[in-house]
Amino acid sequence: MTQIPVEIADNAQFYIQIRQAVLAAQHSSRQVGLLMIDIEAGEPSFRDGDGLSNGMREKAFALVSGTLRESDVLCRISGAEAAVLLSSLRKTEDALLVAEKILRELDQLLHLESRAVNLRPQIGVALFPNHGSSASTLLECADIALKTARRNKQRYVLYSEEFSRSPRPPLRLSALRQAIVQDQLFPLYQPKIDLKNDSITGLEVLTRWRHPEFGLIMPDEFIPLSERTGLIVPLTLWVLNASINQCRRWRDQGINTSIAVNLSMWNLDTPELPDQVAALLNSTGVPASQLELEITESAIMDDPQRAMRTLKAIRDLGVRFAIDDFGTGYSSLAYLRKLPVSSIKIDKSFTQNMESDNDSAVIVRAIIDLGHNLGLKVVAEGVETLGAREMLTDFDCDEAQGYYFSRPVTAPDITRFMENAQTSSAQNGPIENVASGWALENAGEVPTAIKPPL
Ligand code: C2E
Ligand code: CA
Ligand code: CA
Repeated sequence: MTQIPVEIADNAQFYIQIRQAVLAAQHSSRQVGLLMIDIEAGEPSFRDGDGLSNGMREKAFALVSGTLRESDVLCRISGAEAAVLLSSLRKTEDALLVAEKILRELDQLLHLESRAVNLRPQIGVALFPNHGSSASTLLECADIALKTARRNKQRYVLYSEEFSRSPRPPLRLSALRQAIVQDQLFPLYQPKIDLKNDSITGLEVLTRWRHPEFGLIMPDEFIPLSERTGLIVPLTLWVLNASINQCRRWRDQGINTSIAVNLSMWNLDTPELPDQVAALLNSTGVPASQLELEITESAIMDDPQRAMRTLKAIRDLGVRFAIDDFGTGYSSLAYLRKLPVSSIKIDKSFTQNMESDNDSAVIVRAIIDLGHNLGLKVVAEGVETLGAREMLTDFDCDEAQGYYFSRPVTAPDITRFMENAQTSSAQNGPIENVASGWALENAGEVPTAIKPPL
């Protein structure tokens, strides 16, 4: 990396420089780009104390400046926020390319941080002339784009006028019902990795809603609505149908991976579920061994006897079960022994904290030992750093899942990755490191169709 000594402007100076850049661009065909960068964006509830150390923050600013040209201006907005002025852009894509480059550099830096940091830098982008012609409007638009990136968990977002409209009204039941029948839902797939040989052991199906008016909606918003209203039953059938059919297509391409679908408490209350699962497996020809269902402890404990009946009927088909978010619910260990489950997934709140918090590390280790003593496979969720991965290997954890390996991505991304892995494993033995499939992540979370227009 070549370091260019880009000047770090103070706020007043920066404001004037934006105005000057806009004035100059008015007489040319060039655009002016403004990037608002949150270097320490992340999951606030799991934040490691004050975030980055001062030394790391300085390095982060130096890295950002290293990606810029001499004519660009970097301004420190606050401890963890920076703004960048790109004064003479030929096209919109150029601003987005700079944003991607900055994020790549910052990702590498965070991997080097020895402490646990759950940070995912994010960027909001605004442009003159499309989004505004005054310094204050451009700053405001870049800020709104950054807030949208935070809300939608996107790495960077290009400002759009619709972000400034009034806040979204609450989601409506009728809209969700329509989403199911009109295929507005779509599944993403997140790999689970065998910690012994780095191979992909399965894919968790995570559902998204592409709302015609409001854009991408995350499951944390629409799953609770569907659970409150009973719509979770047809929704789960939609997810099972979409993902089992995708599994069939992968089998046709020589990709034999298993999938894991999330069930909710309501699903265990549906006596038809075992027959519906059996019918889907039969009609697609996907073997039951390639399907896993994830259920939380609380879904089971709500009515253990009823849950047990449904679980056993589905288990008898040959489908496996995993207990999700393990460690967060109240589970009866006596019951755990009786349940027809084959694995437990350690909740991400423990995994994410275990590098900085000894109690979490002790809990993770205890869950792994408990699972093994009960003859269960143990999967750790929320693995975001090399450090976490290494600790889990030390603790003898079987599998891991998390941003360190890959974000949830689309089916075509998985296909590409699997095909490459097959080619390289034929030549070089086991897949080197799935984290090197970082392209998966960048391709991922938000499918191209709903990324901001270029
Ligand atoms: P979950 O089953 O615990 O799924 C894991 C969640 O953690 C996913 O969030 C995933 O994107 C996120 N995640 C994965 N790796 C990491 C990581 O390294 N760091 C962090 N911070 N997060 C990570 P997502 O996709 O937003 O789903 C949230 C929850 O919504 C899921 O939690 C699940 O309970 C529910 N959900 C998603 N799809 C479905 C579905 O089709 N049916 C049902 N019933 N629930 C679903
Ligand atoms: Ca899950
Ligand atoms: Ca989980």
